[in-house]
Amino acid sequence: MAHQLPPLPYAFTALEPHIDARTMEIHHGKHHATYVAKLNEAIAGTEMEGLSLEELCAKHSDKPAIRNNGGGHWNHSLFWTIMSPGKGGTPSGELASAIDSAFGNYEEFKAKFGQAALTRFGSGWAWLCVKADGGLAISSSANQDNPLMPGVCEPGSKPILGLDVWEHAYYLHYQNRRPDYVSAFWNVVDWDAVSARYQAAK
Ligand code: MN
Repeated sequence: MAHQLPPLPYAFTALEPHIDARTMEIHHGKHHATYVAKLNEAIAGTEMEGLSLEELCAKHSDKPAIRNNGGGHWNHSLFWTIMSPGKGGTPSGELASAIDSAFGNYEEFKAKFGQAALTRFGSGWAWLCVKADGGLAISSSANQDNPLMPGVCEPGSKPILGLDVWEHAYYLHYQNRRPDYVSAFWNVVDWDAVSARYQAAK
């Protein structure tokens, strides 16, 4: 079974004004779709055809076509689901407590995550991960690398929140103003979805 582009769980316009519809349409329908198509090309006729996307990231990231396109597919599949219209606000429950104990408080967390997003030179991602010991950590990675790949983050890190800082994610609306895009992102983060990932990962 070939890998499939997951449908966007809301309309292209749903995250406006924070993320514009044209960006969403191109980002999902062209960029993400291309990662999926190129991943399928790369695995066709090989022993990798039967592997899950997670297994491809974890075991075959030494192959550039898998690293770039498998990573691109996994990262974007996460990204669409941790955003939602009418969300934002602050985390609650156990996730809020875990954020407080790791970073001091929510504002400190936001500052540190934002710094990871802003200091990633060129293209990449910022991540909030559950570590092997159950605690939380912030990191960033280049290109379409992700924490499932060996050597990218602490071993055993499971991403629960990711922010795409490639220019294709924001350039049409924000041009070079990555800080404005990162600030706007907090208005569409679906903390219920991030909490569910936290519960599953810890
Ligand atoms: Mn992207």
